[in-house]
Amino acid sequence: ARPGTADLLEDLNPAQREAVTHAGGPLLVVAGAGSGKTRVLTRRIAYLLAERGVHPGEIMAITFTNKAAAEMRERVAALVGKRANAMWVSTFHSMCVRILRREAKTLDMSSSFSIYDSDDTKRLITLVARDLDVDPKKYAARTLAVHISNLKNELVDPEEAASKAANDLERRVAEVYAEYQRRLSSANAFDFDDLIMQTVSLLQAFPDVAEYYRRRFRHVLVDEYQDTNHAQYTLVRALAGTEATDTGIEPAELCVVGDADQSIYAFRGATIRNIEEFERDFPNAHTILLEQNYRSTQTILSAANAVIARNPNRRAKRLWTDSGDGEKIVGYVSDNDHDEAAFVAGEIDSLAERGEADYSDVAVFYRTNNQSRVFEEIFIRLGLPYKVVGGVRFYERREVRDMIAYLRVLANPDDTVSLRRILNVPKRGIGDRAEAVVATHAERERISFWAALRDAVEDKVPLLNPRSAKAITGFVTLLDELQEMASSGTEVHDLLEAVLERTGYRAELEESDDPQDASRVENLTELVTVAREFAEFTAEVTNDENAELVLDDGVPAPGSLPAFLERVSLVADADSIPSPDGGEEGDGGAGVVTLMTVHTAKGLEYPVVFCTGWEDGVFPHMRALGDPAELAEERRLAYVAITRARQRLYVSRALTRSAWGQPQMNPASRFLDELPPDLVDWRRLEPSSPGFGNFGSSSGSSSGPRAATTWGRRSSSSTSSSSPFGKAWKDTVALKLDVGDRVSHDKYGLGTVISCDGVGPRATATIDFGASGKVRLMLIGSVPMVKL
Ligand code: ATP
Ligand code: MG
Repeated sequence: ARPGTADLLEDLNPAQREAVTHAGGPLLVVAGAGSGKTRVLTRRIAYLLAERGVHPGEIMAITFTNKAAAEMRERVAALVGKRANAMWVSTFHSMCVRILRREAKTLDMSSSFSIYDSDDTKRLITLVARDLDVDPKKYAARTLAVHISNLKNELVDPEEAASKAANDLERRVAEVYAEYQRRLSSANAFDFDDLIMQTVSLLQAFPDVAEYYRRRFRHVLVDEYQDTNHAQYTLVRALAGTEATDTGIEPAELCVVGDADQSIYAFRGATIRNIEEFERDFPNAHTILLEQNYRSTQTILSAANAVIARNPNRRAKRLWTDSGDGEKIVGYVSDNDHDEAAFVAGEIDSLAERGEADYSDVAVFYRTNNQSRVFEEIFIRLGLPYKVVGGVRFYERREVRDMIAYLRVLANPDDTVSLRRILNVPKRGIGDRAEAVVATHAERERISFWAALRDAVEDKVPLLNPRSAKAITGFVTLLDELQEMASSGTEVHDLLEAVLERTGYRAELEESDDPQDASRVENLTELVTVAREFAEFTAEVTNDENAELVLDDGVPAPGSLPAFLERVSLVADADSIPSPDGGEEGDGGAGVVTLMTVHTAKGLEYPVVFCTGWEDGVFPHMRALGDPAELAEERRLAYVAITRARQRLYVSRALTRSAWGQPQMNPASRFLDELPPDLVDWRRLEPSSPGFGNFGSSSGSSSGPRAATTWGRRSSSSTSSSSPFGKAWKDTVALKLDVGDRVSHDKYGLGTVISCDGVGPRATATIDFGASGKVRLMLIGSVPMVKL
């Protein structure tokens, strides 16, 4: 049955209804947290279809959470069935990939382009910087990468960057930027920022392309508008248009919703700027304010309002609820971080016991990913089901990246970064020198690295020693065979199996007696499973008889290698958020507790929320303490955290924290002082023992659940016998590190590996610990350090 208009508008307040039914000029909905902005967007799409005769293919919706995307699809599917597939609901990045695949030719690229993530980007920038003789001590690749990314987000191209450069750093950045772009394009690759920037320039430079999309997308809707940067904003404007085209196509209807107080990805001023730009560029824009909050109790809302009110220069908002005061906020001061985690776990347990909350009702927030470890330890020990969202992600693991690199090369042999990554992985006798000789040849002949490898096979690369040439021949033959398989339609999981088998990659890991390698094998098996499920899922969709499948150009064939790679490149933290109604296998329906950073929690809501680590130096972040603009951003983050809670909110802090290496004593977060005192019920305010000296002793087993894949900390006080991995640790402690790995050392804190030397008992790594300096460490013995 088709839901009528009445159903669509019934459970909306008048302001929301106005936003849903508004027709014509651009619409801006600005409103506080939980006021129904996302609901308005979802409902508006349904309304467009049901009442205004809009076809799903005319809708482009940009969202950040899967939940919102799924809800939109569901509603649209209920109205029009499988035709819902024709609607584009995606993030900015996937939308751009679709457009770029379709228009690749126009930009002189092949539609099988690779997408470089930040790690690939850093690798390529490192190569470029080395070739341009940039002193890495003066300008690290990371620094260059950040600057280039900022330029792209401001839509500044290399020429403009060069002409604007005002100091040595900026000149060097401009130089590296120009060469980096040249290499990206010859590798047939885009980085993340390019996806946006190139789509913008495509639409701006080719009016007929812009017109095609304008004709197609008559409705553009954007959620979480406050977090769009300048490039994304320009993209929206280019897509929707501000005036009729020469051929008479009117601008698309635009609807953006956001909350300046929740801007948590913007650098200075970007928040106000986004909204000001909108109001300036669309003088006929209509603005609607929503003031009723439907999510939280009055207590939670008052706390959130009190905190955010401390930010200077904001537009004040009235936000109210009629849902009653509810429970007081529970505050807790613990001796140390382990004790804090124990409190959280105990509290979750008793809520569940009393039937007041399911595990899936509960979210635990922290400021940075590394804070999850302590929670995981205790949750595992107590058997509390949980899921960590984000952190060291599956697709960031070395072995997974290696396999993805193989697949990328098979799809796009010009992808030099991936090709060089796997050139000698597993070791096949192509050393650094041979690689450099081939690279020089490629550079001189102005051919791709892949073409240069082919030249090596034909003996056309000068200075290459015969042994390397032979090894290269073996490698090229292998890739040719695999490519043959790929192009004859072998499914991705079979292709992966073939890579693992024929390269000897799996055999090497299986023969190793390093326990870490065993878990690498498991991860690879998991990757094959992911690929198989991907193939099965897409087969199901394609074979569905009722499917009125709208095959859209720009979308790689279902189940194909490019489709799989695209999926992998664009997977986001938010993609692994457990569904709120539980449903994870074998948990009896009570679901799992969700652990995540506040950034990831944007747009979500939970009946019970734990805000942990509220200490100055942790949250607000150390970096923000002396910087008013950064502090304002941290405060917005606190506002986001508080406003995720529906019924119960907990805030806690630890007097000492060991998670960063050396035990640290942090003062209470200033945000705690900003909570109205009468709203908080402090369960515990004092340390249990003077000097709170018992930290460490309560840490017990220090094997994180990731001990199987990365090395857990060996704290001197830990009783390793109680650890499931304790024995293995004792016997074979040795950290395997790569350049670029992030580590946390008990004494020196967080660091990045800058070089590795020696093997076996002689293995050492030089690690940059920032303020603690650069330190060279042995990797055998009891290293009080973990890889992050
Ligand atoms: P955020 O700023 O956190 O993204 P939001 O403004 O997008 O929040 P929603 O997530 O859309 O808010 O809505 C918050 C909650 O309130 C949801 O559970 C939603 O279903 C509910 N809600 C919104 N509007 C109404 C309404 N008119 N009646 C009842 N419930 C509503
Ligand atoms: Mg929302």
